[in-house]
Amino acid sequence: MLLENSVQRLKISLQIKKLVKLSLIFLLLLSSLDILSDPANIQGIRFWQSPDKTRVVFDMSADPEHKLIVLKNPHRVVIDIESGKLKVDLSKININSTLIKQIRTSRSPESGKLRVVLDLKRAVIPNSFTLKPIQNVGNRLVLDLKDPQKASSSAKAVTRASDLKKKFIFVVIDAGHGGEDPGASGHGGGREKVITLSIAKKLADTINKQKGMRAELSRTGDYYLSLEKRTQIARKKGADLFISIHADAFRSSKVRGSSVWILSEKGAKSEVGLWLEKRENEADLLGGVESVELDKYEPEVAEVLLKIQTERSVRLSRGIASNIIGELGKMMVLHSKKPREASFVVLKNPAVPSILIETGFISNINDEKNLRSKNFQNKMANSIVKGIHAYFKSNTPTGVKMASLSENYSKSKSAKKSHRIVSGDTLSHIANRYGVSLATLRRTNGLKSDKLLIGKRLVIPTRS
Ligand SMILES: [Zn+2]
Repeated sequence: MLLENSVQRLKISLQIKKLVKLSLIFLLLLSSLDILSDPANIQGIRFWQSPDKTRVVFDMSADPEHKLIVLKNPHRVVIDIESGKLKVDLSKININSTLIKQIRTSRSPESGKLRVVLDLKRAVIPNSFTLKPIQNVGNRLVLDLKDPQKASSSAKAVTRASDLKKKFIFVVIDAGHGGEDPGASGHGGGREKVITLSIAKKLADTINKQKGMRAELSRTGDYYLSLEKRTQIARKKGADLFISIHADAFRSSKVRGSSVWILSEKGAKSEVGLWLEKRENEADLLGGVESVELDKYEPEVAEVLLKIQTERSVRLSRGIASNIIGELGKMMVLHSKKPREASFVVLKNPAVPSILIETGFISNINDEKNLRSKNFQNKMANSIVKGIHAYFKSNTPTGVKMASLSENYSKSKSAKKSHRIVSGDTLSHIANRYGVSLATLRRTNGLKSDKLLIGKRLVIPTRS
């Protein structure tokens, strides 16, 4: 009885082992089928043209395994993608103003591979890498085609800029995000990368109208620049000041107003700061990282130099930031009345005083509306320039001749604002919308009660 029992038990355990083995094989088969049913198809192709390169972004259905081949006579770049299919109509793709003459598919000598051929206008320096899904974009295969001719001409521009430095306060203005990286977006359709470029351009124009001041943009169009590249431009051009323009977003749509950030050694101090810091630094995940310059100094020397430079830059940044906040406070709601501190990558540039301006909260309906208005953008640019000018007027570097701002400063129209009362308006809503206090709104309009008459106009007091 005992013996029979154990034999039976042995039989059962053998059967279980067999079952486990079979189901393992089945699972393995399933997972390999899964790979086959999930090929890296090209679902979209986008192009970003910057002054020195064409960036081609292939939107992929899965992480692609790929090979890059460069061919001459005629110049072309070939990409072989493992088990992929083309799901895009190539005839409908616009490649004007890129370095590409034609884009087509061709038979790969190896079976099961998708071959994409890019016929080029001239020789390029190609580089490819893949990007993992982030936010609302999926897997991407990125192909950079660097223009060797443009690379050398921008080096010439650098020497010209350093000549300028002797006579001018030279400011590099950096429009945050761009290209593959849209930044934050608002409910009204406002996109950070568009707003930042528009404000940056107005800021540069206003600065270039000033005697003794010159400005240049880090990016001039809708393309991506790595965070390191942005600070590198300021460094190489010997900028006296680097200003990165951004627009904030927050989970609460009530939060609004502008803030100016400078580098902190300790890192961000507030919860908003931490969150923001993570977001701003995330940009490199969106656009891919480029190589960083290596330090040329002995470690000990470099450390001392860096410390001295950083202390000077932070001191200057703080002074400039305070001046800008003072001016911004006259025309808009401030999120913070003092310079805020964080360790954003774009602020880490020891030799160049650097500030980051969060122009407002795109997640707030009123801020978003303002940030998209050309008139508001102009006013904001004027205020920022006023702040910079005031700082350098009392801290003028030797060799620089600065005129007083009023000579060249283009004043924006200070037309009186008014609001026509519509159904559903309350006094506090209106006060909040225009960023004025309830008391001032009551006083300006001589209101005895908070009752509003539909159709009547309220005078909105200007903040200065
Ligand atoms: Zn941003």
